[in-house]
Amino acid sequence: MADSHAARIDSDAAPAGDVAVEMIGVNKWFGEFQVLKNIDLKVMKGDRIVVCGPSGSGKSTLIRCINRLEEHQKGSIIVDGVELTNDVKKIDEVRREVGMVFQHFNLFPHLTILENCTLSPMWVKKVPKAEAEEIAMHFLGKVKIPEQAHKFPAQLSGGQQQRVAIARSLCMRPRLMLFDEPTSALDPEMVKEVLDTMVELAEEGMTMLCVTHEMGFARQVADKVIFMDYGEIVEENPPSVFFSNPQHERTKLFLKQII
Ligand code: ADP
Ligand code: MG
Repeated sequence: MADSHAARIDSDAAPAGDVAVEMIGVNKWFGEFQVLKNIDLKVMKGDRIVVCGPSGSGKSTLIRCINRLEEHQKGSIIVDGVELTNDVKKIDEVRREVGMVFQHFNLFPHLTILENCTLSPMWVKKVPKAEAEEIAMHFLGKVKIPEQAHKFPAQLSGGQQQRVAIARSLCMRPRLMLFDEPTSALDPEMVKEVLDTMVELAEEGMTMLCVTHEMGFARQVADKVIFMDYGEIVEENPPSVFFSNPQHERTKLFLKQII
């Protein structure tokens, strides 16, 4: 692909300076159980935010609320200027702009890698097939597995499948990427290749909200690390402060356990 075309494909990154996501006083319950408690969070365009905390603290729920995979009951969530309510059109609008990568890659097993990457652009965005394939090959190249395009997910390693999942999200040209423990289901030797892809994305200016316990990644790219416990944001600081001078006992305890 000509360089100028590649540059055009990549040039959609949102300009820095504006608010990408704002959560104001967000509360959520599963039945009687309160899973999110008064969450206030502002993500600026271009921010790289890492969310960590014990299992069950509400990290997945928090990020799933941002693309309305979960509904919050109180407070407001505004994504790129659009407030999430029951308005399905607005939910669709937000989902088109927000990419999500899960712990278990969630690729379609009966589709090839290329088809996994072209499906949403063709059906949701009505991108013509040839163009969708060109974009898909561009992003498969970016995650360094263009040669796997015609294979099926089961023929790839876990690390490769997760890189496909990232490429598939990028094909929708998201303005924000959500990652929910993208490396925690991988064999140790495959963690690095996925983290390298994420670091590259971060360095290119993608707005990212990543639930991960990969503290090396947090140190390397995060603008801010958020620590959650029992549904609350307990602490929120740049990695330099977060790791060397944690403010809360709960954060200190958590860091002791994982580092
Ligand atoms: P984390 O990602 O930090 O491990 P989660 O956001 O997945 O935490 O879950 C937070 C809490 O909410 C956990 O106690 C979990 O059992 C509970 N929970 C998550 N999803 C549901 C659900 N769909 N229904 C009921 N409880 C849930
Ligand atoms: Mg989780």
